[in-house]
Amino acid sequence: MRVLLISMPWDALPLLDDGGPQRPRIERQAVTRELDGITCYEVAARVALERVPAAAELPYAWAASPYRGCTAGCRYCAARRGHRYLGLDAGGDFDSRIVVKTNLADRLRRELAGPRWAGEAVALGLTGDCYQGAEETYRLMPQIIRVLGEAGNPFTVLTKSPLILRDVPELREAGKLTQVRAAVSVGFVDEKIRRGVEPGAAGAQRRLEVCAALNEAGVPCEVLMAPILPLITDSADHLRATVRRAAEAGAVAITPVVLRLPAGAREWFMVWLEREHPGLVPRYAALYGKSPAAPPEYRAGIAAQVRELAEVYGIGRQARRWKRRRSPARQLSLV
Ligand code: SF4
Repeated sequence: MRVLLISMPWDALPLLDDGGPQRPRIERQAVTRELDGITCYEVAARVALERVPAAAELPYAWAASPYRGCTAGCRYCAARRGHRYLGLDAGGDFDSRIVVKTNLADRLRRELAGPRWAGEAVALGLTGDCYQGAEETYRLMPQIIRVLGEAGNPFTVLTKSPLILRDVPELREAGKLTQVRAAVSVGFVDEKIRRGVEPGAAGAQRRLEVCAALNEAGVPCEVLMAPILPLITDSADHLRATVRRAAEAGAVAITPVVLRLPAGAREWFMVWLEREHPGLVPRYAALYGKSPAAPPEYRAGIAAQVRELAEVYGIGRQARRWKRRRSPARQLSLV
């Protein structure tokens, strides 16, 4: 029998030394590699499709994610707590130690063909952005998209990263076989706030350009207006600016999501709040108490405002022309 050895793109990355008996649990189960200052734990996923807990209050029932952990490092990320189960912390480790499920596409193919799978829509990227930096090397998403397309299973890709544009051909092909959607999250368009709470993510302008490019390429893309930060980005001006810019990007829909602070995210976010807005700490304590969610009446008020603005700016009504703006990064690159 001939054994076929396939060289994967990440095989060229250096393996890390054994760190001794104090190694985190995940390191005992994974192949560990160093990638541009990021530690990658390569594992074989035992399960691809995971149920999204109702408590997360997301419009998705099922999710699959090739990565756990995320170099975008959003301080509020609800996925942070998952790192604790790996023997890692929910703060700096979540931002710099990424679990990579190298077999996710194969696993997904098997589960989608299983007799108990009812073909529900799947969200990609809830435990880590599926187009974060590591994806440039691992290239797991093209195969995952192909598997979902071939199975005729509807799916939504959630991302803040321009790297999704690399896979437009795969997304378009899958779109001929099933309902494919992208959701780019832009909770606000204030760049100074973005640098503080989403330090490793692309700026809002770049994300809106991605939304426009996807729509122009025939991949319907909505804006997930997430998160809206109470008392920071929930003013009428902030909401209007964000919805207007989403409309200019041709977003097919906009879904407002008020900041949630589950354990893991709460501690990390509050460190930032304490440093940048110490006067808001008691007001956040009053708003959230011990709950991960802001009060329902507050969230309903925000949702109503965003709905009204979406109506005013015509989101979802028809395809709109993208009014190009130059992102600051691009302007700088021209200097
Ligand atoms: S991009 Fe998404 S998955 Fe990544 S840290 Fe931010 S919220 Fe979490």
